[in-house]
Amino acid sequence: MIKKLFKRIFGKSVRTRIEGKCHIIPFDVHGVSRDGISPAARRVTDGLQAAGYAAFVVGGAVRDLLLSRHPKDFDIATDATPEEVRRVFRRSRIIGRRFRLVHVLFGEETVETSTFRRKIESEEAETDEHGRLLRDNEFGDQEQDAARRDFTANALFYDPSSQEIYDYHNGYADICANTLRMIGDPAVRYREDPVRMLRAVRLSAKLGMKLEAATAAPIAKMKDLLGNVPQARLLDEMLKLLLSGHALECVKKLRSMDLHHGMLPMLDVILKQPLGEKFVMLALQNTDQRIRDEKSVSPAFLFAALLWHDVLSAWKMHQDAGERPVAALHAAMDEVLDRQQAQIAIPRRYDAIMKDLWLLQPRFGQRGGQRPFRLLSQPHFRAAYDFLLLRCESGEVDSQLGLWWDEFQDATDERRAEMLLPDEGVKKRRRRKKSGMTVQAELSTE
Ligand code: ATP
Ligand code: MG
Repeated sequence: MIKKLFKRIFGKSVRTRIEGKCHIIPFDVHGVSRDGISPAARRVTDGLQAAGYAAFVVGGAVRDLLLSRHPKDFDIATDATPEEVRRVFRRSRIIGRRFRLVHVLFGEETVETSTFRRKIESEEAETDEHGRLLRDNEFGDQEQDAARRDFTANALFYDPSSQEIYDYHNGYADICANTLRMIGDPAVRYREDPVRMLRAVRLSAKLGMKLEAATAAPIAKMKDLLGNVPQARLLDEMLKLLLSGHALECVKKLRSMDLHHGMLPMLDVILKQPLGEKFVMLALQNTDQRIRDEKSVSPAFLFAALLWHDVLSAWKMHQDAGERPVAALHAAMDEVLDRQQAQIAIPRRYDAIMKDLWLLQPRFGQRGGQRPFRLLSQPHFRAAYDFLLLRCESGEVDSQLGLWWDEFQDATDERRAEMLLPDEGVKKRRRRKKSGMTVQAELSTE
């Protein structure tokens, strides 16, 4: 405040200090106050500094604060080893085997605290045959910790006590210019870790930052390297992308860079069918809106939506081959899930909910007798109904069906009775009884 006043009166500019390779940017220049840091993260940096260690808020949180966004979480980087951090905070635990981090606990909040790490140089690095780094878990100093990070905007350290930002790679200038730039040689960095290509797309879509030309250039040539990344990491990154609140932009960007083959193999087929594309885009838009409204989003719902048109075409094929509708739907679901499993491992724990959402869809068409009431009492009714609305909006089914269910859910008993359509099931049963079919055979066709 005083410095600002001083600056205004005497026209003196407040200067960035340079120490070695580091630019230290004062509060008067960057304007990020310590009040923006969560109380728990503050307690971690204060506690470590009081014990004689260096401690900074680092990475995404500093970037987000500079962009006036609300950080998702606050990560801390320190020169204390994990054991030393544990000694300062009794309520903490060391996690991870390969690279050990400390989770410091304050009530509800957990603060991830990591010791400065260094990037292992290529001569001594352990890589797979494509150059992917298999090990990056050596301790280092702050400068080395900055160099191993991906983008210049992600490599800033903020000290809440002095309110200064430590910048080794001109990240501050890049953020001011709204540019996402890879630290070092982009091609080398993508080879070390191909997931960085997906991070480039996700972060630029989410933050509205442009990808610097040299950072974007190698992606087209290197995208096949994504095929060597372990499935679990791809899935992790895919969930981050889909749940970023900017899924629609991310997927559009992935497609424009032709990266979606590696990331979302399922999209290849779906996006080729006009209705499939519309449905997937609407599902993503709907998810983004829910995240903006701070509503819950279920990954199972999203995966079910992404795969729906695949299920629809497999279902049709089975029916064309003479299978009864429900049996054909079961066969189609299993086929699609198995195929997907071979490409990107959607955890099996989502299978049951995804199948439920799909199996409930044909039942929305049955609006006579007791069936709508039985459907209403299904545990996943609400999600299945949201799914139906997406189908209506995409033009796959008549929007009248969605409107009917919208009214039926909240209608009085009298109104519901009026709304019910003639019970097709009863007619079918009568017909079958006349023709001598058994009850068992009848049920299996439902
Ligand atoms: P988000 O807002 O999505 O959390 P983030 O940048 O904080 O974005 P994290 O995955 O939380 O992303 O990673 C924290 C920090 O770790 C990053 O800011 C970056 O400095 C570093 N980092 C993460 N992934 C990589 C990677 N693949 N290569 C190099 N550095 C990485
Ligand atoms: Mg983060």
